[in-house]
Amino acid sequence: MAEHTRFGPAGVPPMFRFMGATTFDVPKLLREEGLDAFEYEAVQWGQKPQIKREHAQKLGEETKKNDVKLSMHGSYYINLAGKKDVVEASKRRLIACATAADWMGAYVLVFHTGFYGLFEKDFAFKTCLETLKEVKAEMQSLGLRVKLGPETMGRKFQVGSIDEILTLNEQIEGTQLVIDWGHLHARGLGALKKAEDFRVIAEKVEQRLGTEALKSMHCHFSAIEFNNQGEKEHHTLDEKRYGPDFLLLAEVIADFQMHPTMICETPNLDVDARKMQATLKEVLYRKAQKVES
Ligand SMILES: [Zn+2]
Repeated sequence: MAEHTRFGPAGVPPMFRFMGATTFDVPKLLREEGLDAFEYEAVQWGQKPQIKREHAQKLGEETKKNDVKLSMHGSYYINLAGKKDVVEASKRRLIACATAADWMGAYVLVFHTGFYGLFEKDFAFKTCLETLKEVKAEMQSLGLRVKLGPETMGRKFQVGSIDEILTLNEQIEGTQLVIDWGHLHARGLGALKKAEDFRVIAEKVEQRLGTEALKSMHCHFSAIEFNNQGEKEHHTLDEKRYGPDFLLLAEVIADFQMHPTMICETPNLDVDARKMQATLKEVLYRKAQKVES
């Protein structure tokens, strides 16, 4: 079967927990809902994996059995642009996450690169780039295979504009492109209004990283509220006053024949993931009809 766009939640949907499900049940429950991706949240982790190896492996087996593509969101406590001790601790946290991601067989470790802080922007970014190269080298020496996925960020004081992320992808071999579209919208103070706004980014990605990187990008999506500093809060797809509109992204996914992994980060997680999936299905169907007629 040809590669297709996959959809799934960021973390375990509250309803699953309410029903008494364990983490191991999640892939099967997602599959029953028609979803086929899952982002495991290691966002509170410190410098050691906070899951047992055998449990990580069991989760990995369940995702394979149910054909659910697995990714991991790394610790929030990472700043690769900080002072020396902060950077060192951040490296340990990234390695801890990467270790467990490998146990699970997750294909990408998504993470937030850092903050400019008091540094000049260029300097902060270069520190991130150099540190990330060191992390990559250490991962290689440890035999860790999960791809590093620095994410586009929603606040203006965070490292992670689209250009910065593309540069990290260009400069560090084997990294995965991760675009959080809600973040780009918020960082740009409502930048994604028309399909053309998404198209411009897709073209830039294709130009800088190539067609395959464009087609197989890892995405986060949520409706998002922002203030003059960027991201403020995630909202559900039903709250229509908050953008961006997934339909516009769906048009671009169809036009560029992309097959991204689409992780839903709205408060409605799996429910909104299914809505996005239905929207893309409609768009693909409509475009196929047009071609036939
Ligand atoms: Zn994130």
